[in-house]
Amino acid sequence: MAISLKLRFEIFKRDGFTCQYCGRKTPEVILEVEHIIPLSKGGTDESDNLTTSCFECNRGKGKSLLDTVLKDRDIHDETILLAEREFQLAEYNYIKKKIRERENKEIQELMDYFSSKIHGEPASAARDEFPGYLVRQCLKTMSYIDIYELIDVSVDITSKDSKGDNHTVAAAKYLSAILRNKLKEKKISTTLESYEK
Ligand SMILES: [Zn+2]
Repeated sequence: MAISLKLRFEIFKRDGFTCQYCGRKTPEVILEVEHIIPLSKGGTDESDNLTTSCFECNRGKGKSLLDTVLKDRDIHDETILLAEREFQLAEYNYIKKKIRERENKEIQELMDYFSSKIHGEPASAARDEFPGYLVRQCLKTMSYIDIYELIDVSVDITSKDSKGDNHTVAAAKYLSAILRNKLKEKKISTTLESYEK
């Protein structure tokens, strides 16, 4: 294939390491870059003519034909595919690692912000109560700037009525509840989108 490794990586990254035909991802399937209009029919190597396809979809074979595809492959193909899988896993892990690092940084910042908003209670308590796990889930689909606002809301609302808890605990509970709702909304809207397709 004439496409450079760098461009290939960019296409995979743009398409979220997901086959654009069947929706399966690395590491479940081996991905390839496919020309939407083939080079033989005048297509180019420009990124808008390139898409991510899994091994089977690129050959016009559905999941059910996987067995046939596997039988038709010789040892040489098998070795190339194994090497390819290794390579894609490395690329995929690299991206995942970068995302994880970005999330860690954002979670830390949000946690610091949360603790700075609560007065008269120890910062360590704010860090313990901060729902970092939920925030990480939300960061997959939301901007962290939006979470700043949710922290403001949670701290403000619970400053008047903490229902017997200390303020840190009450604000963290409130924040968790809003974040859970956001995740639920997101799940519902993605399900609806996939029904509409
Ligand atoms: Zn596919």
